[in-house]
Parts: sequence; C-alpha cells; structure tokens
Amino acid sequence: MLKIEHIGIAVKQFETSVPLFEKLLDTACYRKETVDSEQVNTAFFRKGESKIELLESTDPNGTIARFIDKKGEGIHHIAFEVSDITAEMARLQAEGFILLNEKPRKGADNKWVCFLHPKNTNGVLVELCQEIR
Ligand code: ZN
Repeated sequence: MLKIEHIGIAVKQFETSVPLFEKLLDTACYRKETVDSEQVNTAFFRKGESKIELLESTDPNGTIARFIDKKGEGIHHIAFEVSDITAEMARLQAEGFILLNEKPRKGADNKWVCFLHPKNTNGVLVELCQEIR
C-alpha cells in the first residue's frame, strides 16, 4: 500500500452536502460521477495530497442507503492506493482477509478497486485502488 488515496463519506443528499464540503474545504468539487454497478453518485474534493469522496445512493435499497439507515451519515470507507491491485489482493487474501470482489472492478475517478470485508478489519471498510493506466 502506498498511501491513503481518499476517505469515503456517506451522505443523504449531494444537494446540501456538496456545498457543505465546498465550504468546509474551501475548494470546489472537481469531479462528479455515477457508478451504476454500485447504485451510487460520487463527488470528489482534493486538498493538497488528500482526497474526500462523498457517496450518495441512487437507489433506496443501495448499499449506501442501507449503510445510512443503519449507522447514519459519516465515514464509510478508507481507500488505500496500491501500485499492483492484483498482487495486493493476493497478499491480503493469503493473510486471511476477505475480499468483497473476486476481481478488481472499475470504480469512480478512473480506478480499479476492490473492497475488504470489515469484519476482519476491526469494522473498517477498506478499499484498495489503483489508477487505471
Ligand atoms: Zn472510495
């Protein structure tokens, strides 16, 4: 793992949360993207080396909607940048972590991604991501 690539935050609606984070971070959202396979809209902010991803459900039964129903709005996942996602997935699987994706899949912001099951990571949903080159 190279560094924290971004922190994902589940929000109920972009209409209020995007302007809120623009004010908080004093910077404009630089990218909005829908990931249909995850029933989610994403909005990205950059501050120096750090990035924040807001997640809004596009479906009342989607994973983000269910997360908010259970836990409320807030931090949803931590994403780590890796240089070779396939190798990192194999390493973590060998260490006993449970991968939620068998193969890297296409995520937002031009990334291959894979999630780890939070039950083996002290309740933290971990995302691996690698820039699509
Ligand atoms: Zn993410």
